[in-house]
Amino acid sequence: MLFDRFESRTIIKGKIIALKPLHIGASEGGIDPVQVDSPVLKDWRGMPVIPGSSLKGVLRSRVEAILSNPAFAGKWTSCNILDDKGRGTSCNIDLKDIKNENAKARDSLEKISEAIAKQIYDKSCDVCRLFGNGGLASKLQIKDMNYTGEKIKYERRDGVGIDRDTGAAKNGAKYGFQIVPAGAEFDFYLVAENLEEKQAKLLNLVVKLLKDSEISVGGKVSRGLGQIQLTNEEAIEINRHNIAKYYGLE
Ligand SMILES: [Zn+2]
Repeated sequence: MLFDRFESRTIIKGKIIALKPLHIGASEGGIDPVQVDSPVLKDWRGMPVIPGSSLKGVLRSRVEAILSNPAFAGKWTSCNILDDKGRGTSCNIDLKDIKNENAKARDSLEKISEAIAKQIYDKSCDVCRLFGNGGLASKLQIKDMNYTGEKIKYERRDGVGIDRDTGAAKNGAKYGFQIVPAGAEFDFYLVAENLEEKQAKLLNLVVKLLKDSEISVGGKVSRGLGQIQLTNEEAIEINRHNIAKYYGLE
């Protein structure tokens, strides 16, 4: 079936460097403004880690924002963009509708699920076809990025406490948050499966954004934290012609 078969795999390896200090909070949603001290996310060694899913989310938003430029209208499709009235659009995949439409094709279960998968794919925008949506698996996986150094010296910054009820700055309230210092290095490993031409172009855009240090991760981005850069990148293409060689199974 079209959507399961191995056609090709693109692997991009490299190094992520923190150009600015990072604060990727250990608690979901970043910094809790009321919490006294906000630690960064760490792996089992106590070293900092950048979750692949966080970076993927940032990259997706960035690609969507770029494609929202009218220059791309009619050539590229993208959902989840807020319009000038602040309303969000989405691919709105309604599995119930699609399943009903396909209920007539009762030939075989396999045929029906194939037809459903095809319709979801057809109804999805260019961004969803790469990053996935409620009905469509992502073609892109980014592994959690582990710190490659031997030792780390976390730093601490002070922030102003926010009153949870009023949203105003608490009088004199201070909380600390931990940061990973600038210069920290992480390994980077991205796998993309069965990319079509347009998706390969979006992947190139993703790599360009990372290389040009246009991406920031974690919290306190508005205060200048979180900027990262991809360096030493290497792209590996695996397809039917070289897969045996790649795995040493010639
Ligand atoms: Zn979409």
